[in-house]
Amino acid sequence: MRDFLKNIVATLICLLGIDILIRECFCRNRVAILMYHDAKSAVFARHIAYLLQHYTVISLDTLVSAIHQKDFSRIPAKSVVITIDDGHAGNIELLPLFKQYRICPTLFVCTQIVDTHRHFWFKIEGHSKAEREKLKRLPNVERLAFLKHTADFEPEKRYPERQALNIAEMKEMIADVDFQPHTQFHPILPHCTETECRQEILGSKLDLEKLLDIECSHFSYPNGDYTEREIEIVKTAGFRSARTTDIGWNTEKTAPYRLKTVPIADDAGLTLFRAQLTTIPQRLNGWVNTVLP
Ligand SMILES: [Zn+2]
Repeated sequence: MRDFLKNIVATLICLLGIDILIRECFCRNRVAILMYHDAKSAVFARHIAYLLQHYTVISLDTLVSAIHQKDFSRIPAKSVVITIDDGHAGNIELLPLFKQYRICPTLFVCTQIVDTHRHFWFKIEGHSKAEREKLKRLPNVERLAFLKHTADFEPEKRYPERQALNIAEMKEMIADVDFQPHTQFHPILPHCTETECRQEILGSKLDLEKLLDIECSHFSYPNGDYTEREIEIVKTAGFRSARTTDIGWNTEKTAPYRLKTVPIADDAGLTLFRAQLTTIPQRLNGWVNTVLP
């Protein structure tokens, strides 16, 4: 039912030209940071081809520098930044597209899951979406105890199947990808102790800098969850920005440690993609989820 409604809303947005209106007027001088996770290359290719026709793709670093300088004069009209979260193994399939379209997206990776056979806790089978959402609200130690008890899951356990990118793939991608950390194990930071939180943020920066011999300047909060404590730790760790999952666009007035996002469904057809660029379906979805049980 929700999918059916989502498609009707998306079709209406495109038919009425609302997406064009928002792009040409409201968002002309605001920057969308698109957020993907594990898009397949056929879907991603259609999105990028559309974006390059109607927008300018810029790097996250360019946007963050303009925000710090409070000067958007060199940011092209209708700019977007592309980010991809977690470091899923399937991301390697997108590399030919990054090269073909000459885009350099930011890939936020969990640094203790990439280049290992460890698994992402939120990909464990057998948990419903509601259960996963409930887990995200538990103190970190209780979430881990529940996962151990129900699925024999441990963050450092080695599984036969590899879920994340490995070092060979990351090295192959490094000329076309801006790798940045997304914690070590993807906990929900505000539910961690101060020590855990520091370890996850600082540790992930050190891990990735060592693994790829790079300097990391940008961070993204797992599940987009943060409080003033996380902002402070990210700042003192030496990051220049942090991306949330707060829906919206960025301007020179955006706080650099609260960068806003336009989440994109990994499997969105072109109509839903165009609609999601307006953020209307995502906001409606949030509203439906709060009013419906
Ligand atoms: Zn994530």
